Amino acid sequence: MRPCGGCWNWPGNEKFMKEDLKLYYDIIIVGNGVAGCFAALHLPKELSVLMITKADLEESDSFLAQGGICVLKDDGDYDSFFEDTMRAGHYENSPHAVEVMIRSSRETIQELRDYGVEFEQEGGRLCYTREGAHSTSRILYHADITGREITGRLLAAVQAQKNIFLQKRTVMLDILRHKNRCEGILLQNSRGEIQPVFARDVIWACGGIGGIYENSTNYPHLTGDALAIALRRGVKLRHVSYVQIHPTTLYTERPGRRFLISESVRGEGAVLYNKKDGERFVDELLPRDMVTQRILEQMQKDKTHCVWLSLEKIPRERILSHFPNIYRKCLEEGYDVTREPIPVAPAQHYFMGGVEVDLDGRTSLEHLYAAGETSCNGVHGANRLASNSLLESLVFAKRAARDIAASMEREKGRTGEEAAGASAASIDAAGEAASGLWSWELLKERYGIYKKEYENMEQYAKINKERIWEEIRKGE
Ligand SMILES: Cc1cc2nc3c(=O)[nH]c(=O)nc-3n(C[C@H](O)[C@H](O)[C@H](O)COP(=O)(O)OP(=O)(O)OC[C@H]3O[C@@H](n4cnc5c(N)ncnc54)[C@H](O)[C@@H]3O)c2cc1C
Repeated sequence: MRPCGGCWNWPGNEKFMKEDLKLYYDIIIVGNGVAGCFAALHLPKELSVLMITKADLEESDSFLAQGGICVLKDDGDYDSFFEDTMRAGHYENSPHAVEVMIRSSRETIQELRDYGVEFEQEGGRLCYTREGAHSTSRILYHADITGREITGRLLAAVQAQKNIFLQKRTVMLDILRHKNRCEGILLQNSRGEIQPVFARDVIWACGGIGGIYENSTNYPHLTGDALAIALRRGVKLRHVSYVQIHPTTLYTERPGRRFLISESVRGEGAVLYNKKDGERFVDELLPRDMVTQRILEQMQKDKTHCVWLSLEKIPRERILSHFPNIYRKCLEEGYDVTREPIPVAPAQHYFMGGVEVDLDGRTSLEHLYAAGETSCNGVHGANRLASNSLLESLVFAKRAARDIAASMEREKGRTGEEAAGASAASIDAAGEAASGLWSWELLKERYGIYKKEYENMEQYAKINKERIWEEIRKGE
């Protein structure tokens, strides 16, 4: 069985019900945060796309982003935006990646607005806020739920597209690596069954690694699965020990995800005290890693579990209009931020390292791409500048999608024989599976995938976590 035309519209696919996973898609995207959604929206509409997510549709870190998204306000801000990003990253950033991100920012924001995303405005002009390590206000925001506004709109656009099949509670367990090519993934579907799904290209948009930490602002299911698979299947990683700890998350003795108190709260004037009625001990607008370091030192000195953040300098009306979510959440926890300081402590927040990619999202394995927090193109260096990650995810996810489209075009342009040769490996394996012949034997022989590795999922997750920790420690 051969795919028709240049893309993988396999005959026989129609027999599968809409609700059922097919065995073949042109593209598989793992993750439906901003990176996954934006990549999907930039793929040619005639391609069949499978997008999967481990949890429910709104359970991605993209939905949690509070502070905002950076943009190049005007040409005069280029040098300072570039310098702020580099300085925050300790000049370990890839300058070319930073340039691409900044130069693409206005076009990206315009696209978001075309998808219906609304940013705060006053008198018809966009408002900009500021966060730590920014030398000027250049962050667009939607109250303190910018991530929900952006990701919600993109997700709705994805759901409206007939060529994208979105499956929740579906987990990528492995990739199908044959020689130097990725031919698909192994997944566990929402019924708990394990099966391969073949594709021409796979995009990893799997987010961060907060789930392997005890205290993190991330969703606990974001456990760096792509990294663990990369380590197992020999896909190159970069800067794995570059993990960002956010200085201010609401302190509580209860376990579970840490609630972030956005840096823009400090950008708008909130100050840090060593004790509830104590003294200031740090410049609150230093880069994140430096503020975190000072807080940890202070906590050690005072033998406390937290320091205190006071919003007393921000007018009440401003708190209620710009930070309604933070206000509400703190109130639920028993603190009225308009009247009293709140206890805060650092927690894991962001992963600068990841699967090594070039500026088009290409990994070291052919036909495997990565975008968003899972990937590392060096844009953030050793420490991410606040509000650069939504932008980075969007800019480079789009580039990955464009690269896939361009390579398909090139494939179409080649003679039938050459194109058939290039895809022959996948087609043979996929062909077997298409005839209903996929078997663990095939997966073992062709991809080195053994059924017994997936029989105990708890053990599987534990091994993955240990693998990632080992790699993080190596780089420390
Ligand atoms: C509390 C908080 C506030 C933030 N605020 C800001 C901000 O103001 N500005 C900013 O720029 N950035 C902010 N960030 C960072 C930013 O939100 C993330 O870096 C960005 O959204 C990452 O997007 P993503 O698409 O790469 O990953 P995510 O949005 O995390 O999506 C990852 C997806 O991958 C799926 N997935 C993972 N593993 C698997 C698997 N094995 N199988 C199937 N699916 C899988 C998940 O289910 C999820 O759908 C914040 C982050 C947090 C946690």
